[in-house]
Amino acid sequence: MSQREWIEKDFYKDLGVSSDASADEIKKAYRKLARDLHPDANPGDTAAEERFKAVSEANAVLSDPAKRKEYDEARRLFASGGFGRGGFPPGAEYSTGGGGFGGGEFNIGDLFGGAGGAAEGGIGDIFGGLFGGGRGGRTAAPSRPQRGKDVEAETTLPFREAATGVTVPLRLTSPASCTTCHGSGAKPGTSPRVCPRCNGSGIVSRNQGAFGFSEPCDDCRGTGSIIDDPCTDCHGTGVQNRTRSITVRIPPGVSDGQKIRLAGQGEAGLRGAPSGDLYVTVHVKSDKVFGRNGDDLTVIVPVSFGELVLGTTLSVPTLEGRVGVKVPPGTVDGRILRVRGRGVPKRGGGAGDLLVTVKVAVPQNLNDDATAALHAYLDAEKASGFNPREGWAGA
Ligand code: ZN
Ligand code: ZN
Repeated sequence: MSQREWIEKDFYKDLGVSSDASADEIKKAYRKLARDLHPDANPGDTAAEERFKAVSEANAVLSDPAKRKEYDEARRLFASGGFGRGGFPPGAEYSTGGGGFGGGEFNIGDLFGGAGGAAEGGIGDIFGGLFGGGRGGRTAAPSRPQRGKDVEAETTLPFREAATGVTVPLRLTSPASCTTCHGSGAKPGTSPRVCPRCNGSGIVSRNQGAFGFSEPCDDCRGTGSIIDDPCTDCHGTGVQNRTRSITVRIPPGVSDGQKIRLAGQGEAGLRGAPSGDLYVTVHVKSDKVFGRNGDDLTVIVPVSFGELVLGTTLSVPTLEGRVGVKVPPGTVDGRILRVRGRGVPKRGGGAGDLLVTVKVAVPQNLNDDATAALHAYLDAEKASGFNPREGWAGA
């Protein structure tokens, strides 16, 4: 773990306790979380596993009074170091060596003196020689690097493109770190100052009778810093809406209403944290020819009575072209003929089936010849002994 990651962690938040929690509160919070999040209790749940690790790490520091004190001290120092809300400006360089604490600039490299692997040893190793003595119980709550938010989007696809897969352009508008102030919320050239009322912690304690309460600081609205000169582009929020265009590959076989997850295509994480995911809800338009039943592609083909009686071969459209479908003699109206592997492509390869329903089309305007022939046919049919209502329960 790098020094930067270490200092940006919010161990109090990990344990769900306030920064002035007692040792007993910390112990209780840790025990409960460790039990709930234990990998044995959440097999296969990687999110729980990550939380479990974070909670264990937080407890290792906060349960040790000496480490906790140094951690608090380090956080307070970083929060007041001209980094706005206690974080690091995105893309900032952390040079090592040189400089000092003089002047308005606060150089992280100066603090650490380029200590390469020191972070492995924990906070005592990093800060031990630098800030002996401590500076009292003041604490700060710098925000930790946050994974970018997940983003939701929608797209509507023609039936066939949804079935075969397609690449679509999407325009997304989502909040992102303000480019003008790099997310600090302060006008360029200025920086937010640590809130004097809460000393940057964002929390104030209030005593009422025998009880003490912690509540968000009113002066800074819980952020721990005060912006005297807000950035005009983001009005001091540090966040801007930004529109970006991306192309998204929709896999074959997506069905109406399905949500596709595109890892890492969501909002950018601030200060080097991973991006969120993009979830695209796909709407599929209906098609004039095809329908769908899972991975099977359905199609209704009109046929004549004679074709069903005598049998025929139909030319049926598929997603890629056409296929000849044999209708055996004596096929009944409404029968479904299955053509294997010519349906909708499946996620893991292969495809569903093409289901062809034959449906008799009854002629509405026969010419005299056809009408006469049909009369002759019905007579012959009767003579051959065929009665369509034979064996019918309603006869
Ligand atoms: Zn701004
Ligand atoms: Zn405050």
